[in-house]
Amino acid sequence: MPQLSETIKALKASSTVAFDGKAKALARTGVDVVAMTAGEPDFQPPEHVLEAAHEAIRKGMTKYTPSEGMPFLREAVAAKFQRENNLSYSPEQISVSNGGKQVLYNGFMSVLNPGDEVIVPAPYWVSYPAQVQLAGAITVPVIAQPEEGFIPSLEAIKEAISPKTKVIVLNSPSNPTGAVYPKELVKGIVELAAERDIWIFTDDLYEHLVYDGEFTAAAQFAQDKTLIIHGASKAYALTGWRIGYGAGPTELIKAMNRLQGQVTSGANAVAQYATAVALNETKKTHAFVEMTKKAYRERRDVLVEGLNKMGLKTPKPQGAFYVMTDVRAIDEDEMAAATKMLELAHVGVVPGTDFLAKGQVRMSYATSLENIYKALERIKTLLD
Ligand code: GLU
Repeated sequence: MPQLSETIKALKASSTVAFDGKAKALARTGVDVVAMTAGEPDFQPPEHVLEAAHEAIRKGMTKYTPSEGMPFLREAVAAKFQRENNLSYSPEQISVSNGGKQVLYNGFMSVLNPGDEVIVPAPYWVSYPAQVQLAGAITVPVIAQPEEGFIPSLEAIKEAISPKTKVIVLNSPSNPTGAVYPKELVKGIVELAAERDIWIFTDDLYEHLVYDGEFTAAAQFAQDKTLIIHGASKAYALTGWRIGYGAGPTELIKAMNRLQGQVTSGANAVAQYATAVALNETKKTHAFVEMTKKAYRERRDVLVEGLNKMGLKTPKPQGAFYVMTDVRAIDEDEMAAATKMLELAHVGVVPGTDFLAKGQVRMSYATSLENIYKALERIKTLLD
């Protein structure tokens, strides 16, 4: 075969996707696997959203949409930011993509030059450094420890800034740690960035999943220097529909749209329409989000207590649907521990290696309480 590019040869596969694939492959062989790998809600999307998708098909919404997104959805997203976050965006400042991942990628590709630096608090989601690398830039991680609740200090972020810093990534509630940053810290980081004309890329996908404390919209402190990465996957259980949306300054959004127009065109038309309905039908959607949040909170409490009880140190996260747990009692090497958990206990987890979390694994509790009890029992047996 002719050669692949150096860029792609250097690119690692996503470990969240890979370990989820491994768990599902084992399940396909007939093994009863509890997959706590991918962050994917186990709930069906709300009924009114499913109905909207049917309606979109009946209405013949089967054609290309504008590549930056259907006007109806861009308006609904702008209204969401006004209503929920007190942020004013015009529909032209909204870009709709194939999932939050593509919003992020379009953003990085639009602002980064080779050699630029991107500060990312860690443990971080695996696709941040991978996308930064694709843009020819360099990730500068700022690692926070479990004892700090995985929340970095403002001082540590400040020390990581160099003349080459182009972007600081924020993700609160965080994937993979579930940490929710205090308002003062978010404000402090944004102000640090704004003073130096550094972009803030804030991944707000887990905005609605906060159990203790509260979500802080970073954009309120410097809207003209911030790209919000958001989407329908996590809060509305629409992962497979692949709808993400970005909000930012007009010039940045235009650049991202230009890139998307050459790469994928617009996102799925039916899913865009249904997502707009999810955003607009606030009462019904709110009831759904509250129902899922209540379930996640209970699952979190059971999982965190169960893991700590058997000696696996697990800080209680305030949001999202992940816990990070110290698995050195299973194996010093977290990759080996994750493999043992899957192969011997049939519990799928993601090793902390690519999150920069040594000795830890990430477990998603976006699965039933019954599965969580089953997983705890199996891990206990493995430890014994
Ligand atoms: N964001 C989810 C996760 O971290 C889905 C997989 C992915 O896109 O990385 O598990």
